[in-house]
Amino acid sequence: MSDPEQIRQRLLHVQARIATAALVAGRRAEDVTLVAVSKTHPPEAIRAAYEVGQRDFGENYAQELAKKREALADLRDLRWHFIGALQSNKAKLLVPGCAMVHAIDRTSGAEALGKRAVANGITIDVLLEVNVGGEETKAGVAYEEAPERAREIAAIPGVRLRGLMSIPPPTEEEQTARAAFQRLRTMRDSLRATMPSIELLSMGMSGDYPWAIAEGATHVRVGTAIFGERLGR
Ligand SMILES: *Cc1c(COP(=O)(O)O)cnc(C)c1O
Repeated sequence: MSDPEQIRQRLLHVQARIATAALVAGRRAEDVTLVAVSKTHPPEAIRAAYEVGQRDFGENYAQELAKKREALADLRDLRWHFIGALQSNKAKLLVPGCAMVHAIDRTSGAEALGKRAVANGITIDVLLEVNVGGEETKAGVAYEEAPERAREIAAIPGVRLRGLMSIPPPTEEEQTARAAFQRLRTMRDSLRATMPSIELLSMGMSGDYPWAIAEGATHVRVGTAIFGERLGR
């Protein structure tokens, strides 16, 4: 694992870049939540980030999340975000014990989470994953289908649809990256007109989070820039 001091330094650097990007965009840094993506990294790496104030962590395998949650149960105010593709039979690993599920791309996944939430007397916050990259990527619902899927998911008991999420194809071109983020924001704005709970935008990763913030991201999901290269599983 990267040594704890290195993780802390990288985290401070990412926090500073978030603050700058927010400032330049005329936004408040507090309105951008940094989700530190800890997949493949051990609980000690998460602890190192926690010690310098990081509270939101993202994982994309339900079992891995559940294992780390157990190992870090003493950190009571840590918030887990599930950012991977959801298999319905894994809902029990995520509810309760997960603050938000970012990548809902089918109604059945949301229904499985909703059932667990109702049984536990809670609600679970979810985001609808939208494909803004067109042909190049397959994850997420097609852009044109997003309104219909959003209405279906918003009607599921136990689930609160809070916003949209996307993983645009990686690019080093600012204009291309920002155009994809803009598409997601445009969809969010249009849905919010009739569904006011749809406020959040989870977009931006290590390579592009300052651009995502410029386009209105409320959650950026940053892994490599904090924890270093991913380890073998
Ligand atoms: C791994 C992952 C990230 C983080 O990617 P980095 O490039 O390491 O910052 C963000 N979002 C999702 C959905 C991921 O799976």
